[in-house]
Amino acid sequence: MKCLIVEDDFISGKLLETYLSDCADCSAACDGPEAVEAFVDALDFGQPFDLICLDVMMPGMNGHEVLTEVRRIESERGIGGLDGVKVIMTTALDDSGNIMGSFREGCEAYVVKPVRKDKLRTEMEKLGLLSPSR
Ligand SMILES: [Mg+2]
Repeated sequence: MKCLIVEDDFISGKLLETYLSDCADCSAACDGPEAVEAFVDALDFGQPFDLICLDVMMPGMNGHEVLTEVRRIESERGIGGLDGVKVIMTTALDDSGNIMGSFREGCEAYVVKPVRKDKLRTEMEKLGLLSPSR
């Protein structure tokens, strides 16, 4: 499984990478534009990401804008439904506006920081990215 970790905080990004190291091939992006570029590059190479862990608060382009752009690019390329990348928001923001907004924009799951390994993996199991036996 290929995972893109989008996180402007280095330590938070490294933590997610550690959590996923045994089940995913992880790439990291430290801001929105870098994330979109990595996403498009992977599509162009025919090796799309299966999962994006997406921070919301980032300078410049935030997680909402990245998510919207990712779904726009997918629809432009005729990628929809189950073929789309799974997006799990990983953020300190726990208000309903951010949560509901993210689901409206097309995320599959929302995990509030501090992200714990079991919480993240439970969401990944629900999305069919991990088998529950792991
Ligand atoms: Mg952040």
